[in-house]
Amino acid sequence: METARPDHLPGDPLKATTDAAKEKPVNFRFFAVPGYQIAEPSEQLRAEELVEPSVPHMEEAVEQALSGAEFRDMRAPDRLRALLSTPSAPRHTSPGGCGPAVVFAQPPQDLPALLRLADQLDSLAALEQGERALVWKCAQCGSRYAVPVSLVRAVSIRCERCTATIDLVAERCLGEETLVDPFKGAVNTTRRELAGFFREAMARGWPVLVCAAER
Ligand SMILES: [Zn+2]
Repeated sequence: METARPDHLPGDPLKATTDAAKEKPVNFRFFAVPGYQIAEPSEQLRAEELVEPSVPHMEEAVEQALSGAEFRDMRAPDRLRALLSTPSAPRHTSPGGCGPAVVFAQPPQDLPALLRLADQLDSLAALEQGERALVWKCAQCGSRYAVPVSLVRAVSIRCERCTATIDLVAERCLGEETLVDPFKGAVNTTRRELAGFFREAMARGWPVLVCAAER
C-alpha cells in the first residue's frame, strides 16, 4: 500500500518550486543593505550603503561554494533558485549588473540559520582545503617536485627530466604549498568570503539579498 510522503511540507512554499528550479546553473550574487532600504520594494537600492563579499569572478564559484551546505532544511543552491523563481517574493532593484534581488535572510528571524550556514561553509572549506606539500626544485633543470607532507622522507630521488639527484631534505625545500586545483581553491576562498560576509551582515543587523548576476 502506498503512503503519502510529505515531500512538500505545508508552510514552506519554496519546497514545491524546488524541483522545477533545479539544475540550471546560476551565478548568484549576494549583498546586504540596511533594512530601511527594502521597506519599499520598488525603490532602487543604493550602492553607497551596500556590503558584498569579494568573491572570485569565476563562473559558478558561488554555486559550487554553497553546494553541500543547507539553509533551513534545504540545499542552499536549491533554496536560492526556488527563491529567485518564486513570483510572490518581493523584487528589489539592485545596483550594478544584476537582475531583480530578493531577500534571502533577514535578521533577527534568520540570524541563527544564516550563522549556521556560515559555519557549514567554513567547515567545508577546511575539509577540502587540500593537502599541504613541501616543494623542491631540481638544481640542474629546475623541475619542481611537490611531496605531500605526510609522505616526506629524507631520501634522494632522481629527477624525471634530467636524472640529476635531488635530496628531499626538509631544510633544503623551497617552501610549502597546498595541493589543490585552482577552481577548488577559488571555491574555498568563496566559502570563507561568504561565511565572513553573512556574519558581518548579521552583526550589522542588515538583511541579505540575492540576485542572479548577469554573465
Ligand atoms: Zn632535473
